[in-house]
Amino acid sequence: SRQFTRPLNDLANQFNTLLSAIAGAERVFDIIDAEDELKQEKNKRRMEKVKGDVEFQNVSFSYKGYKNTLNQINLRALPGETVAFVGPTGAGKTTIINLLSRFYEVNEGAILIDGVIIADINKESLRAHMGFVLQDSFLFQGTVHENIRYGKLDATDEEVMDAAKHANAHSFIMKLPKQYDTELKYNGSGISQGQKQLLSIARAFLAQPSILILDEATSSIDTVTELKIQEALQQLMVGRTCFVIAHRLNTIQNADKIFVLHNGEIIEKGNHESLLKKKGFYYQLHGQKQLR
Ligand code: ADP
Repeated sequence: SRQFTRPLNDLANQFNTLLSAIAGAERVFDIIDAEDELKQEKNKRRMEKVKGDVEFQNVSFSYKGYKNTLNQINLRALPGETVAFVGPTGAGKTTIINLLSRFYEVNEGAILIDGVIIADINKESLRAHMGFVLQDSFLFQGTVHENIRYGKLDATDEEVMDAAKHANAHSFIMKLPKQYDTELKYNGSGISQGQKQLLSIARAFLAQPSILILDEATSSIDTVTELKIQEALQQLMVGRTCFVIAHRLNTIQNADKIFVLHNGEIIEKGNHESLLKKKGFYYQLHGQKQLR
C-alpha cells in the first residue's frame, strides 16, 4: 500500500502548494485592486458645492456572498428635506446609508447627488459634504477639542467652542477635568453615550454639511441629555437634506417623507398621517410601539 500512499501524499503536498499560490495571488490582486481604486478615485470629480438633492434610481445591492439585501430602491430627497427610514431590524436601513456614503458600491442602479452619479464623485469630496450623527459616534484618541475640530480641520478655537455651544455640548465639556483639553480614550470611553452624541453633533455643526445622516439611538440615554440632543439636532437639521434612521415617533412625525423598509424593499411611503390612514405595515409598527 506504500506505493499508493506516497503519490497521494505528493499530490496532497502539491495541492497545498497550489492552494497557497492561489491565496498568494489573490492577495496580490487585492493590493493591485486597492492601488487601482486609489488611482481612479484621484481622477474623480470633486464637488465644490452641494445643494443636497439625493436620488436612488433602481438601486439593488447585496453584501458579498449574500443576496438581495436591497432590491430596486427608488427614492428622492429634495434639498432641505428630511426623509425617515423605518422598518424592522435587518430591513436594510443602515445599508441605504452605507451606499449613500460609498462605504459599499451599488450592484445595480445609481445614486445621484445634485444629478451627479456618486460613483463618479471622489469619495473624500463626497463625504466632505456629509455629516454623521450615529449611534456609535466615531471618536478617536485625542482631546475633546481635536475630536470636534475633525469636522473642519482648519477651524479656530472660537469656532470649535461655538459649535459645541450650538450642540448643547459646551456645559458638559466645561465640567470635564481639563475642559476642551480633556483627553478622550479610544472610542470616547469615559464619557456617556449621550455625551458622545453631543460631540458628534458639535462636529457636524462645525462642518456645516449639506447632507446629514442620523441614526437615532435605540438604547436609553438619560432624559436631560436626550432633550439636549433633540434640541441641538432640530437646529442642525434646518436647511440640510437629512437621512434619518428613525426610532423616535416625534422625528418620524416631522419627516417630509417616510420610507418603510421590509426585507430590503420599500413597501410603503408617505408621511405619518397618510401612512396611518393606509392601515398597512407602518400602522402595525406604530401599534406595536416599535416606533417610540
Ligand atoms: P437595518 O439597518 O434595517 O437593521 P441592515 O442594513 O443593517 O438593516 O441589514 C440589512 C441586511 O443585511 C440584514 O439581513 C443584515 O444581516 C445584512 N448585513 C448587514 N451588514 C452586513 C455585512 N457587512 N455583511 C453581510 N450582511 C450584512
